[in-house]
Amino acid sequence: MKQTRNHAVVIGGSMAGMLAARVLAERFERVTIVERDRYPEGAENRRGVPQGRHTHGLLASGREIIERLFPGISVSLLEAGAVPCDVCRDGYWFQQGGPLARVASGLDGFVASRPLIEAAVRERVRRLENVRVVEDCAVEGLLTGEGRVTGVRTARGPMEADLVVDASGRGSRAPGWLSELGYEKAEEERVEIALAYTTRWFRRDPDCGAPPIVVIPPTPDGKRGGVMLAQEGGRWTVTLIGHFGHAAPEELDGFIDYSGTLPSSLIHDVIRQAEPLSEPMSARFPASVRRRYERLTRFPEGFLVAGDAVCSFNPAYGQGMTAAAFQALELGMAIDAGWGGLARRFFAGAAKVVDIPWSIAVGNDLRMPETVGPRPATVRFINWYVAKLHVAAHRDAVCSTAFHRVANLLEPPPSIMKPAVAWRVLRASLRRGEEAQGNFFAGSVSSASSMRSST
Ligand SMILES: Cc1cc2nc3c(=O)[nH]c(=O)nc-3n(C[C@H](O)[C@H](O)[C@H](O)COP(=O)(O)OP(=O)(O)OC[C@H]3O[C@@H](n4cnc5c(N)ncnc54)[C@H](O)[C@@H]3O)c2cc1C
Repeated sequence: MKQTRNHAVVIGGSMAGMLAARVLAERFERVTIVERDRYPEGAENRRGVPQGRHTHGLLASGREIIERLFPGISVSLLEAGAVPCDVCRDGYWFQQGGPLARVASGLDGFVASRPLIEAAVRERVRRLENVRVVEDCAVEGLLTGEGRVTGVRTARGPMEADLVVDASGRGSRAPGWLSELGYEKAEEERVEIALAYTTRWFRRDPDCGAPPIVVIPPTPDGKRGGVMLAQEGGRWTVTLIGHFGHAAPEELDGFIDYSGTLPSSLIHDVIRQAEPLSEPMSARFPASVRRRYERLTRFPEGFLVAGDAVCSFNPAYGQGMTAAAFQALELGMAIDAGWGGLARRFFAGAAKVVDIPWSIAVGNDLRMPETVGPRPATVRFINWYVAKLHVAAHRDAVCSTAFHRVANLLEPPPSIMKPAVAWRVLRASLRRGEEAQGNFFAGSVSSASSMRSST
């Protein structure tokens, strides 16, 4: 087995690719990122990352990892205009008919546009002496020899490598490349959520009364939600999302009217008075997709897949960049343990880190009756419990913080069932006289009913 660590190639220089390159740079003599796009000069949108035009939040755990990989990057982002915030204290999270208690949680971070975050990471990667970025160059296939991947075929010719990491996103061609090489296709899990999103930007009046983070998730019966985040340059980005045929109109008046149909009127109250700054942008996200590379029994040496190419979640949960950051750490650990069984080790580690955000996103999406997927009693119980936790968290800072720590992937989901939290949930539930209807096997609590009961 080839043991050299001369050269690693990363396919795709977006968030997953750059974070992987940062980790590889410590372990290989040279790293080359091959990116299909030509990068813009600064914090601009680009073709290869169309989702960059839509609202992007970075979870607290993702921010921590990125800061660890690039010390000082948070300060640079704040200097570039990112808006500092405590995810819990400075966020309006509307769940189960009311906003969660806003308290200082220590979950410090910032909100900023995706192009700004990506440009800051890119600038740090460019400072790494042994990393080269080849732009405007698509990878077209893999080079192989002696039963392993030995490099990539690019639009400009072959490029040899000891390790190739595919971070080319949701449209990754790895499944096709692998089957051309005679490997089995990785099992693909799809959870159809028929999500449509429309984004517009508005001027932000810091005195408008809304905190920098406003999240109004769709309810199972309403299916419409919205996210509004403060951004650099005194702006709001507003993404309105609708499932199963509830797309928001693009045209301004329709967009504003739609925001008035969400479970909370806060976004509507702000944008109907704000100056619009952009044309609308719309896209569709039919399904969350997870490719189960960790279940394959055969996989070629010298090749790995990371980031959205492995798993892309319902974007409403803001987990993609953070999942990519966790996978970069797994990549480093898997390589440090040696060449033998690298793919098996990496995919097992990556599957573990993806399990939690995947279960949060899919579990929540399964609250909508239209979402197709198995609903074991555990999923129904968790949804029932989380609904109760949200109601308790309207007033209870401990419950609110416990929820945010899990949503930010700082604590595992079972932490919301610790006795210190569970008894508060129970107490709040008893206070509301809900214990009589508390049969979780009857299904999850509908937001609409809890909205009615809270008003
Ligand atoms: C609407 C929407 C909103 C989102 N909101 C959030 C959010 O709030 N928070 C969050 O954390 N995540 C969010 N995400 C997810 C996030 O954008 C991704 O998880 C993140 O960008 C990591 O993806 P990636 O680097 O694996 O792939 P991508 O970002 O898709 O990048 C793939 C890269 O590969 C390049 N490429 C593709 N093919 C080739 C090829 N053949 N050769 C060379 N280069 C190639 C592309 O040009 C691109 O640069 C959102 C996603 C969507 C769709």
